[in-house]
Amino acid sequence: MSFSLFGDKFTRHSGIARLMEDMGAGLRDAKTVMLGGGNPAQIPAMNDYFHQLLSQMQQEGKLTEALCNYDGPRGKAVLLDALAALLSKTLGWPITAKNLALTNGSQSAFFYLFNLYAGRCADGATRRVLFPLAPEYLGYADAGLDEDLFVSARPHIERLPQGLFKYHIDFDHLPITAETGLICVSRPTNPTGNVITDEELRRLDRLAQQHHIPLLIDNAYGLPFPGIIFSEARPLWNPNIILCMSLSKLGLPGSRCGIILADEKVIDAIGNMNGIISLAPGSIGPAIAVEMIQRGDLLRLSETVIKPFYRQRVQEAIAIIRRYLPEERCLIHKPEGAIFLWLWFQDLPITTETLYQRLKQRGVLMVPGHFFFPGLAQEWPHTHQCMRMNYVPDNEKIEQGVRILAEEIERAHAEA
Ligand code: PLP
Repeated sequence: MSFSLFGDKFTRHSGIARLMEDMGAGLRDAKTVMLGGGNPAQIPAMNDYFHQLLSQMQQEGKLTEALCNYDGPRGKAVLLDALAALLSKTLGWPITAKNLALTNGSQSAFFYLFNLYAGRCADGATRRVLFPLAPEYLGYADAGLDEDLFVSARPHIERLPQGLFKYHIDFDHLPITAETGLICVSRPTNPTGNVITDEELRRLDRLAQQHHIPLLIDNAYGLPFPGIIFSEARPLWNPNIILCMSLSKLGLPGSRCGIILADEKVIDAIGNMNGIISLAPGSIGPAIAVEMIQRGDLLRLSETVIKPFYRQRVQEAIAIIRRYLPEERCLIHKPEGAIFLWLWFQDLPITTETLYQRLKQRGVLMVPGHFFFPGLAQEWPHTHQCMRMNYVPDNEKIEQGVRILAEEIERAHAEA
């Protein structure tokens, strides 16, 4: 059987596919210590809330109504109106429902947007997406229709007290050229938990405007919902910014609901793409979100339940790591948001890919760092010294995984 070029590219057994298979197998096997995937936590208060909300919606016929009807290609109109009102009221942004469109998860929004702004263009140019700071989200890596769609830049590394460090954008070496079609950054960042500073974001915004290209901010973990952000950071939007949001990290990844806030022209384009690719985005997630907004629960639960839950979990996970791994063995990226810890084993005599294989044999799953540098042109040893761990599982599991991690690290040093 032979496929088209598109088929060849999108049916490849990519690194991410291998990892997702591991994750799937790990989730089915109760003995595995699963510190790898990106599933949000099962927060008891949120699960209870969704349970009650869904049974009320069912009694009122709202679930059936959502399931039995197509929405328009930009998604459920009542949600677009409610979100526009909420965001303009809480953040002061001059927006209306015409600035909003929904997609089936924000992952499909990235696919649309990367290929809208990068790739082979009618003027003969080939444009690329710039990730100004790698490590960056691995879900972006294979989302280009054309090969080599991405360019990224190494960060500047700031060492902090207590075995912490923080990445910053290295503006002096940013590979931004006439070929750059879009700048994209996740804030908070998966995999590192970094939150680029307000000043960094404003500089990126200025650069994008100077180059007449959009700035895409992936706000899947950010403000005002789900609010998994622990540092002082202000959300930013203007008509040159495309802000992507999601219901996933509220605890609804199965609803596959992504939200795009952008200039009307971009939103019209997204609506047309939705029509061609999926007719309309799914309706269940949006129906739930409308209820949450109307009841005043979306921002309240983000602030009072979701954020404190993750803040506590991350602090506990760091305390466990430090019981087994001193600063000389393991540096930790300052946890400013998202649901991961990014560990840097500076002097590790083996690559983190080998470490991943050894951990997997012992039933512990984490993700080796080199997957998180899409578009980085030159080899950089740092990419093989880092590991991403999800800190969401309960403390017992975290401790089990970290104990084995520490043993494998000592073994690698002893073998060297
Ligand atoms: N953006 C980032 C940074 C993520 O980590 C994830 C999921 O892990 C997503 C977007 C995808 O979200 P969605 O479920 O809306 O496709």
